[in-house]
Amino acid sequence: MSDLGCKSRVYPKDRWGAFHPYTCTRKAWKDGFCKTHHPEAYEARRIKSDAKYKAKIDKSPLAVLGRQKNEISELQARITKLETGINDAMMHLRTNYDIDGNTMSDSDAMDCLVTAMQGESH
Ligand SMILES: [Zn+2]
Repeated sequence: MSDLGCKSRVYPKDRWGAFHPYTCTRKAWKDGFCKTHHPEAYEARRIKSDAKYKAKIDKSPLAVLGRQKNEISELQARITKLETGINDAMMHLRTNYDIDGNTMSDSDAMDCLVTAMQGESH
C-alpha cells in the first residue's frame, strides 16, 4: 500500500471475489481514499440510491392508491360541508326555520351558503 494510493480493499464482483480482495489501485483523493472509496462518496451514493428508491415507491400502485384514497376522503369532507350548508339554506328558504328549528332572517340562507363555500376553500 503506497502513501499515494487509495487504501480501500476491493472485493471483485465475480463468484470468488469475496476471497480475493485487493487494495484499490487508484490514486488517493482525500483522507487516503480515491473518489470512489471515500466515505463521503459512499454517503453520496447512498443518498442518491435512497432517493431513487423513494421515487420508485411513490410511483407504486399502492402508494398512488393511498394518495387517491386521501384525496377522496378530503373531497367527501368538502362535499359534506357543502351539502350541510345547502340543506340549511334550502330549509330556510322553504320554511324560514333552520335545521334546528330556529327562525332565520332573510340573509341567513345566504350566510349558510357563504360559510359552506368558505369551508370548501381550506
Ligand atoms: Zn479506491
